[in-house]
Amino acid sequence: MNSHCNGTGKQLVTDFYYNNGFSEPSLETKKTTVQQRKQHETSGKDAEDESRLPALEAAYSSILRGLGEDTDRQGLLRTPLRAAKAMQFLTKGYHEDVYDILNDAIFDEDHDEIVIVKDIEMFSLCEHHLVPFFGRVHIGYLPNKKVVGLSKLARIVEMYSRRLQVQERLTKQIAMAISEALQPAGVAVVIEAAHMCMVMRGVQKMNSRTVTSCMLGVFREDPKTREEFLRLTKTA
Ligand SMILES: [Zn+2]
Repeated sequence: MNSHCNGTGKQLVTDFYYNNGFSEPSLETKKTTVQQRKQHETSGKDAEDESRLPALEAAYSSILRGLGEDTDRQGLLRTPLRAAKAMQFLTKGYHEDVYDILNDAIFDEDHDEIVIVKDIEMFSLCEHHLVPFFGRVHIGYLPNKKVVGLSKLARIVEMYSRRLQVQERLTKQIAMAISEALQPAGVAVVIEAAHMCMVMRGVQKMNSRTVTSCMLGVFREDPKTREEFLRLTKTA
């Protein structure tokens, strides 16, 4: 599979973003709301998780009984609680916001060469089967007077992958977040992943990998820029 997200015109990626109505409000608009929320959100997250835990635990007990298991046998006694906590951890990205991550990490810089971070490890959950898919993310962008701390790109990947996802959307969300925050001349994101819902259900699909890409701005308009990115991220 290889999907490209939509694009148009020879504009900056931000123009592209707004003209195509990719739903989310701008970073600036969100900024105030996020700052207002922020304070009680950090502690609010723990409280929210805590309050939802009993229902989630009961649901896992019910799943185990539905599978014909004896929930009173020793090995399963604390499984519903552990599974509930694990699932909350694996979906913790819902509590995070791009602005929280990038705050104080965007710098003015006259760098006009492609910046690439490749082989970012990614673990997510397929929203159709609730089983893992995981792999590697390669990110490139061509700065337009703004750069971001490199570790923050991995944090963006983390934030969107710790949610129930489909790989295509994950790819696009990462690209859009970088595009919106940095307003670069272009963004490229490629994800290679193995989906357990495919791998575990058929031996012949053991080695199948799904590749998705999202190219914005110059990476979409200019084949040479795109090729340079693809060449530099190619795994040996
Ligand atoms: Zn699936």
